[in-house]
Amino acid sequence: ITQQSKTVELAKLDKKHLLHPATNPKALIDNGPPIIFAKGKGVTVTSTDDVEYIDGMSMLWNVNLGHGNQELADAGNSQLSTLAYASSFKGFSNEPSILLAEKLAELAPGDLNSVFYTSGGSESNDTAIKLARFYWELKGKSEKRKIIALTNAYHGVTIGAQTATGLAAYHKFASSNIDGVVRATAHLLNSELGDKSDPNYADSIRGTIEREGAETIAGIIIEPVQGAGGVNIPPEGYLEAVRKICDEHNILFMADEVICGFGRTGKMFGVNNWNVVPDMMSIAKGITSGYSQLGGVMMNDEIRETIANFDAVIPHGFTYSGHPTACAIGLKNIEILERDNIIDHVNEMEKELKKGLDYLAEKHIIVTNCRVIGLLAAFELYEDPTSGKLFDPTVFPANAVVDACFERQLILRALGANNQIVAIAPPLIINKEEIEKMIQIIDDSI
Ligand code: PLP
Repeated sequence: ITQQSKTVELAKLDKKHLLHPATNPKALIDNGPPIIFAKGKGVTVTSTDDVEYIDGMSMLWNVNLGHGNQELADAGNSQLSTLAYASSFKGFSNEPSILLAEKLAELAPGDLNSVFYTSGGSESNDTAIKLARFYWELKGKSEKRKIIALTNAYHGVTIGAQTATGLAAYHKFASSNIDGVVRATAHLLNSELGDKSDPNYADSIRGTIEREGAETIAGIIIEPVQGAGGVNIPPEGYLEAVRKICDEHNILFMADEVICGFGRTGKMFGVNNWNVVPDMMSIAKGITSGYSQLGGVMMNDEIRETIANFDAVIPHGFTYSGHPTACAIGLKNIEILERDNIIDHVNEMEKELKKGLDYLAEKHIIVTNCRVIGLLAAFELYEDPTSGKLFDPTVFPANAVVDACFERQLILRALGANNQIVAIAPPLIINKEEIEKMIQIIDDSI
């Protein structure tokens, strides 16, 4: 079979038997899959048609060490042939999950010394919400149940995580939301510092706590840098202000580090950029660079000890909690991150990416609001940047640029309520020449 006829046959089967996540099903039936991936190496992936693409998004912000990493494959293979899977229920345990937990405790800020394993980010956030509520129950404060979540947040698609997500489309879908999630507007620094004359004060975290009553609030869930909601970097002092609010009101600071964690923002965790120590931390994605499905919720000693004193079975856990193969890959992934000084490299490459975006902004009047932290970046497209006038939303300029990049073999992603944002999050191992090539393609595509 020729490669092309193989692709045609696979596309036919895909259309017949698959329902894709986060995909327009009708468009897929009409057009078939835009690409069928066959293999990957470094920052590139290759289709079944043998066309090579630069993966400018690390797929879903997760393939941090890049594709085709033999050491990660070997770590997985070795564990698969030793003990592929084992249960962690009823206290059953396994070596990779124990050693990874120890390593995570060493890396995590402050006294976040324990982890509850999951298989991904959404499960982690649902778990974080449940554990926060459970913690307060055990403290005799079962009225502390509400979770404050921010506008433009993305926390995943299981029902708790979806409710916490601050993007309208997710709430409408199948009308499934949990109770007790309250919304505050993201990044209102002055309000969070206590300025009540701020016109948006009522919608801030402080305003929300005043309205709802701190005695009803379990925690605040926050991405250190918002990802799918538009790559929104908080203003300086913001996360520190939120930490202070949490301390003042006895509310848990729940960091969603699913994208930021493991070097993406140029520090091991996103919160390290602002020296903030959360009470709980959701992790996933970069913990294995996508070589296996793994997530977790880390918690501080106070939460851990309170829960550890509960003398009955906790009715929460996933079949794949503490999956030995996933954990073995996670351990190897962290070993490589540290051994190869990947985070120093991210900080070097951040400068190159900044340079590239500055070049695009200078050359193209429509390119504005460039932002970069580590290797997490975005720019926006406005018809008239001075007035903030968007393009006709039916034209979707960010989608158009992303599509044009795809034709030129670069994978990026369009974000934003008006599809005005182009996100860039390449594998952390990308080099200067590869960044320059990405910028060149974006330049041509615009
Ligand atoms: N939290 C954040 C910040 C994310 O970006 C994502 C996924 O993109 C999730 C949670 C959900 O993770 P998963 O898709 O692994 O369930």
